[in-house]
Amino acid sequence: MVRFTILASGSKGNSSIVTSESGSSGSTRILIDAGLSCRELFRRMAQVNEDPSTLDAILITHEHADHVNGLPVTARKLGIPVYFTEPTHRAWVRQVTPQHKITYAQWAQEYARQKQAGSFPNPLPDPEPDPAPDPDPVPDPSPDLTQDATIDPARLPAVHYFQPGQPFHIGSITVSPFTIPHDAADPCGFVFTAEGLRLGLATDLGYMPPNVQAQLRRCDLIMLESNHDLEMLRDGPYPWAVKQRVLSRVGHLSNDATAQYLEQTYDGHATWLILAHISESNNHPDLARLAAERALVSKPSLLANRLLLAPQHEPLPPICF
Ligand SMILES: [Zn+2]
Ligand SMILES: [Zn+2]
Repeated sequence: MVRFTILASGSKGNSSIVTSESGSSGSTRILIDAGLSCRELFRRMAQVNEDPSTLDAILITHEHADHVNGLPVTARKLGIPVYFTEPTHRAWVRQVTPQHKITYAQWAQEYARQKQAGSFPNPLPDPEPDPAPDPDPVPDPSPDLTQDATIDPARLPAVHYFQPGQPFHIGSITVSPFTIPHDAADPCGFVFTAEGLRLGLATDLGYMPPNVQAQLRRCDLIMLESNHDLEMLRDGPYPWAVKQRVLSRVGHLSNDATAQYLEQTYDGHATWLILAHISESNNHPDLARLAAERALVSKPSLLANRLLLAPQHEPLPPICF
């Protein structure tokens, strides 16, 4: 049996679980992203009868806070490996490692002091800004109380690297990572293959490039972003720069963009279609559903698809195959 459970979806935290229970190498459970605090992840898992201690691995799509907020605590508590691409891991380590930042004036003063002392001056501080977080990430409400100050905040039980375009196995599940256009170090979507079924996940992407469309072919379940309503975003509360970022080709998919994919490209193969990463500030679940339903109604063959919306504040009941 293959089971897919969404624990949370949206800019306040993303996390889901894919389970294969009768693969040739026994049962396998993968947590995809850990965007909620460890405590909240465990609470939501209990609500849908998922036992955290049976998870085999954590797989990370990208380093934005709404996908990794609870990662270090959860991974350390469970003692399980974390799978990243190397650039995503590096970006995450930079993000969680406290940095000593100095102003230009402080650097100039230090430069003059070292020059006077005859020692080689330090290079200029890295002018690159940190990667932009998702617009409204929230801090982890449940800090790691077991963590003492001497623990390296980037310490994980084990780290494995994967590369987009190169499928790999975790237990009985084959993971096929693919590149998505988003403003992170090396963002990925995934197709999970288990027991002859294909589950495709693509959220946090500015548009649907041909490689993503190709990956989502012949999927039995598709979780696809339907982030914002264009008018609500335009008239909504976000500052202009954040609106531009969300709308850009490395931002998030609008209801219209998702509907266009469903109408023009989607092959209609999936039993389950899940609209995900729905913005609470710039979208309404009814608008996201309506846009997708309109697109599906235009092709009678797609009416058998079951359409669900991934919630932010509670788990979606598990989908079983
Ligand atoms: Zn996100
Ligand atoms: Zn993101």
